[in-house]
Amino acid sequence: MKILVIEDEENIAKLIKIGLEKEGYVVDLIADGIVGLRRIEVYYKNYDLVILDLMLPGKDGFEICRDVRGQGIDIPILVLTARNFIDDKISALDKGADDYLTKPFEFKELLARVRAILRRPKESSLISKLSVGNLSLNPITRKVYIDKKEVKLTLKEFGLLEYMMRHPNRVLTRDEIIFNMWDFNSESFSNFVDVHINNLRKKLEKKRNKKIFESVRGIGYLMRDDF
Ligand code: CA
Repeated sequence: MKILVIEDEENIAKLIKIGLEKEGYVVDLIADGIVGLRRIEVYYKNYDLVILDLMLPGKDGFEICRDVRGQGIDIPILVLTARNFIDDKISALDKGADDYLTKPFEFKELLARVRAILRRPKESSLISKLSVGNLSLNPITRKVYIDKKEVKLTLKEFGLLEYMMRHPNRVLTRDEIIFNMWDFNSESFSNFVDVHINNLRKKLEKKRNKKIFESVRGIGYLMRDDF
């Protein structure tokens, strides 16, 4: 697995590189936004993931995200932001980042997020619409439709549904669900998943006389592709 790190703070960049290399990843470092964008444009097929700082000389991380997605390059992008402003995170995700991490961060959290992103199938980048049976979900507008009628969901319900829709016909364990959803912090308990699953069932099943999720006893949940 090869990772491109675009980060101008030398100490952080080196720490990331050394840490990731210890885990067996191959890491390239770039400290400038323009050079970084060019590297992605030319060599994106050689990388599995980009770790992208937002505040960079030359070109900032928002612009890089937007340019990369504008060219239809679907490489996973994990954004690093020093600013804990929610608007920056929303903006980065809207411009096509797959996840974000606020500095200062624990290296083990960075690793966990890298692993989570790399587990996602390539074609399921955040920019593409998802559909399962008559249910469709748009990750950018955050709207969900059944039989073309909109269904209102909370952010957490949306995140959970999106995750389930990205993995139809596969049993997802409660731990996987918690681990893969950035809305859920590490203090989440598995019954938290059950609560949101039940809320989704109430909202979605009443619109269609069909079960949306199957419970797999003691393990987790399964969404079939014919809902
Ligand atoms: Ca920076």
